[in-house]
Amino acid sequence: MADGRPGSEPRLVTVPSGSAYQVASSPSAAMVTPALARELRRVLEVFARGAGFDERRPVSAFFKPGIFGHHQVGRAADIYAIGGIGLDRWKARWDEALRKAREAGGSVAEGEMRAERATNLGWRLYTTMAAEGRWAQPYGYPVQLFGPWTRTEGPWRYISDRLLHAHRDHIHVAK
Ligand SMILES: [Zn+2]
Repeated sequence: MADGRPGSEPRLVTVPSGSAYQVASSPSAAMVTPALARELRRVLEVFARGAGFDERRPVSAFFKPGIFGHHQVGRAADIYAIGGIGLDRWKARWDEALRKAREAGGSVAEGEMRAERATNLGWRLYTTMAAEGRWAQPYGYPVQLFGPWTRTEGPWRYISDRLLHAHRDHIHVAK
């Protein structure tokens, strides 16, 4: 295998659609190494199945090309929308549910957040990627998974305001 040889550049491939999810963006939006494509496919499939999608009703995922760091060598990908809705809008919906739940308090709050966790595809995608994904962790750096929920859901809860703001509307992963 070319990508197993030291010093050889792995060819880049597009992130494939799975059976329970479909990539809605153009192939050029996520040109990545075969290893990252496989990992994304695996995790997106786990997410989609867990959220109740299947081959008859797949969920759409939308990537946009990144520029810096791992993106330059195809080792990173950015997801901007899931189920046709932007990650920033999923996060706004999540924050609103949290605000209402805090206002209500008690068992009402618990019920509301349970419903939100079941149906908020942005939160579900992020937490599935955090729990299931094997992402890069360069020496001295945090695990390379950043998005709107990084500060509350990890893995790097100490994310700076600047980096959190930079990932307010997408999920970045590298492998
Ligand atoms: Zn990125």
